[in-house]
Amino acid sequence: MTEPTHDEAHGGALGERLNWLRAAVLGANDGIVSTAGLVVGVAGATDDRAALLTAGLAGLLAGSMSMAAGEYVSVSTQRDSEKAALAAERRELRDQPEAELEELTELLEERGLSREVALEAAQQLTERDALKAHARVELGIDPDELANPWHAAWASFLAFTAGALLPLLAMVLPPADWRLAVTVVSVLAALVLTGWISARLGAADPGRAVLRNAAGGALAMAVTYGAGALLGAAGV
Ligand SMILES: [Zn+2]
Repeated sequence: MTEPTHDEAHGGALGERLNWLRAAVLGANDGIVSTAGLVVGVAGATDDRAALLTAGLAGLLAGSMSMAAGEYVSVSTQRDSEKAALAAERRELRDQPEAELEELTELLEERGLSREVALEAAQQLTERDALKAHARVELGIDPDELANPWHAAWASFLAFTAGALLPLLAMVLPPADWRLAVTVVSVLAALVLTGWISARLGAADPGRAVLRNAAGGALAMAVTYGAGALLGAAGV
């Protein structure tokens, strides 16, 4: 994993895709853990399938919409600040083009180009598309590909939902005697998988990540089951 591959030379686009994939896996992981905790907790208190289905579905919808709304807000804010930075850059390019050319030249020098090559490169970039050049080199953003808040919101919604469906279905589909075992086993298996994938995406040690992830889910289910069983025994 440490050897640089050819793909890494293309930087941005691949990094972007990996970020999306990582976010999707984390979203699914959230959906699995929180919904598993919820339905296992309710199962600690009651055998009623309708109650389990209601609680699980409400948890799925609440969680996925909360994730989507949070993502929408955060990406919108990021987009607003990127747009503001681009507007400021556009103004500066119009009002003081020489200073901006010098700035771009210095930024390129900092990246390892000699003064002459940096100046030549800055001039060419400025002629072609000055705003794009400044956006990329100075702000680190691509003005043609600002993150879309709706895409981000939908992606979070779908990732969480996909994860949440597993414990929900594992709890309501099997016969009553089996539902808890089926849920616990399938949730742990899924957490092993998501832990392994996200570790591989982050080039981290999969063994530890898998263990932590599964342990986190097991703890969540144990705690909520205990709470549900206590409430059930107390006749709430
Ligand atoms: Zn600039």
